Amino acid sequence: MISFNCPPCYGTELQYIGQAIANRQLCGDGPFTKKCQHWIQERFGTQKAFLTTSCTSALDMALLLCKLSPGDEVILPSFTFSSTATSAVLSGARLVFVDIRPDTMNIDEKRIEDAITERTKVIMVMHYAGVSCEMDTILEIAERHHLIVVEDAAQGVMSTYKGRALGTLGDFGCYSFHETKNYSMGEGGALLVKDPALNERAEILWEKGTNRSKFYRGQVDKYTWVDFGDSYLPSELSAAYLWGQLEGADAINENRLATWNTYFSELSPLSESGRIDLPTVPPECRHNAHMFYIKCRNLDERQAYIEYMREHGVQTVFHYIPLHSAPAGLRYGRFYGEDRYTTAESERLVRLPIYYGIPADEVEQVIRHTKDFFA
Ligand SMILES: *Cc1c(COP(=O)(O)O)cnc(C)c1O
Repeated sequence: MISFNCPPCYGTELQYIGQAIANRQLCGDGPFTKKCQHWIQERFGTQKAFLTTSCTSALDMALLLCKLSPGDEVILPSFTFSSTATSAVLSGARLVFVDIRPDTMNIDEKRIEDAITERTKVIMVMHYAGVSCEMDTILEIAERHHLIVVEDAAQGVMSTYKGRALGTLGDFGCYSFHETKNYSMGEGGALLVKDPALNERAEILWEKGTNRSKFYRGQVDKYTWVDFGDSYLPSELSAAYLWGQLEGADAINENRLATWNTYFSELSPLSESGRIDLPTVPPECRHNAHMFYIKCRNLDERQAYIEYMREHGVQTVFHYIPLHSAPAGLRYGRFYGEDRYTTAESERLVRLPIYYGIPADEVEQVIRHTKDFFA
């Protein structure tokens, strides 16, 4: 079976895990955590990055830092992973789902403004497949209405919009280092914070409600419980694995892009003849080949294709059941306006195997079987 995903391993991870053990610090915020955070800050251009135990926890931190009140509203796409929404629920907010654009599958920036009410506090965007949302428009709307922008950039590490890294455009950016993402530590993530005034509050939240980080820097003479907090620090073992991945970040990115480009050029004839649709990457976006998807004509054809590929030894998967129609989505939110594309487009979409180091002959087989199916 050609697997859809394989957790990335660059080759240096085990050595760094050995070093973490030799350092005699396994809990979080040690040398590897600091190296990873520093790398993210320098490479992507953000004043502060916190490694977290997941993108879900980074999103939770971001929404807690927004300090919402019950009944406040958060605007977000319905076509996203549950974590985007659960963080907003944790903060006490009501969810207002907005339709997506069919070309990028991202939130439709033209539909956001109409969904804003006097209770709206936050716009959450999710950069699907590592292709950026239309951020200039979204940031301009947010500024005019005094709204906070949170980027779910779980899939967008190493992608850019007009030359700026995804995750650094909004007030908060959230990365995932889950094993299904481009760079991994098994389970993990990062929170990127734009406003330095929020660093201290974020650090307390991260460190179980204490001012322990301040204590270690010698800024206070004892550490104590100062505010609400949680446990968001990953262990040094996980950070050591991630350090190996970040060192290989360019090589991993180029390898994924090469696979993506092969799929795109080989499947272009099917798209030109109108049999399938291929992903769109707007000119101002540079993507990270997080995902390669095609769109079938409809749900029935997609099911037949997934089944055909399975019979031919290829694992393909679909994405997502729109949140507004899921049990929790019905409970916590509402869809604003017409669902023109969210449901219809999600039903056509199917993702092909792509991961760091996928063998070229496997990519060829996926392409061959796909061409045969649509012939
Ligand atoms: C993977 C993913 C997440 C969750 O990431 P974790 O690190 O597993 O918590 C959140 N949002 C999106 C869009 C994702 O793709």
